[in-house]
Amino acid sequence: MSCNENCDGKHECGSCAANSPQSVDEFMEMMNREETLRRIKHKIVVLSGKGGVGKSTVAVNLAVSLGLNGSRVGLLDVDIHGPSIPKMLNLDNHVLESDGVKMTPAQVGNIKVMSIGFLLKSEDNAVIWRGPMKAGVIKQFVEEVDWGDLDYLIVDCPPGTGDEPLSVIQTLQGADGAVVVTTPQDLALADVRKSIRFCEQLELPVLGVIENMSGFVCPHCGEVVNVFKSGGGEQMAIEMGVPFLGRVPLDPIVVSAGDDGTPYIYKYGDSTAAKAFESIVDTLNENLTPKSKEEQKMLIALPTSDGQLCMHFGHCEKFAIFEVDPDENRIIAKTILIPPPHEPGLLPKWLHGEGVSVVIAGGMGQHAQELFSQSGVKVITGAQPAEPESVVMAYLNGTLETGENVCDH
Ligand SMILES: [Zn+2]
Ligand SMILES: [Zn+2]
Repeated sequence: MSCNENCDGKHECGSCAANSPQSVDEFMEMMNREETLRRIKHKIVVLSGKGGVGKSTVAVNLAVSLGLNGSRVGLLDVDIHGPSIPKMLNLDNHVLESDGVKMTPAQVGNIKVMSIGFLLKSEDNAVIWRGPMKAGVIKQFVEEVDWGDLDYLIVDCPPGTGDEPLSVIQTLQGADGAVVVTTPQDLALADVRKSIRFCEQLELPVLGVIENMSGFVCPHCGEVVNVFKSGGGEQMAIEMGVPFLGRVPLDPIVVSAGDDGTPYIYKYGDSTAAKAFESIVDTLNENLTPKSKEEQKMLIALPTSDGQLCMHFGHCEKFAIFEVDPDENRIIAKTILIPPPHEPGLLPKWLHGEGVSVVIAGGMGQHAQELFSQSGVKVITGAQPAEPESVVMAYLNGTLETGENVCDH
């Protein structure tokens, strides 16, 4: 948001004027919000094209599964149409607490929970809110909760693609993305397409689609019975080019846990849904932490002399260091380095220090190979004398032919 590092947001500088606060109060509010959001590593919104697909159940499941992995998790329920999370977590009678500045979330296991339901005495209250009021309450809920440091904040959004989910996403600023919940029926699938387009318009990445109520877990034998056809969610995700996270069956353990007032979380480990969510959370985490370009980079070193791959690792003139993109099998950059003066054991240490992860050589002594292996550098010996570029390309393409290690002395 800021124009430069020194911008205090109090002046009009063109590039950040749109976000400039108009008063000291607004400025404090903005600082407060940024501080709150900065302490949350990942913000994930849970969306659905329409109500009744079990969006809130999925939000709770995601939070509980992530919490079971030892992460610090917050669960924010801003579904003003039917906040159902308090009931699921047996927080029906929870009284909202505040330290005078921020609201204190309820604690269930290691999950911090805040629900708009804590504000409502009866479900009827939801309908009397008018548009601007709803937006205000949503904003307050996102900004004025004392979450502390979190690894994940799971946000149960109002359903649909209207103003309410829009204000949630806008207030969150820079959410990692959305998980879109659907059921296998065709009608639900039509709605979920709308949700995906909604995310595209907001430039909010779709982290994946979950097909909920995909079959039913038999309470007698635990087998999953397909009541409706399943698989529609996956097909739709493929068609729309978004990740599919998995199918979750309707699980009576989950339903009864909510109904008899037992906090759902304590029965969780037994449920079939829990198992489904284990793999969903794994996939989600992979999608959340795309490797940065820096991590994808790989350095390959080749000993050279006279511009060709040198057969004697310990006696070469120079090293050609190639920065490559192993995903796209291409060379990004080439540097030539002069090795330090010859000293036993020094070259492997030096190349490792340069960040090299692969060495392609003609011949290499046993000692050097051992040193590379100790520092996790991969060594290929027996490459033939050729131009370094063509050797690297052959290696990347998996067509490098190697013979004997010519200087095993
Ligand atoms: Zn059965
Ligand atoms: Zn040699």
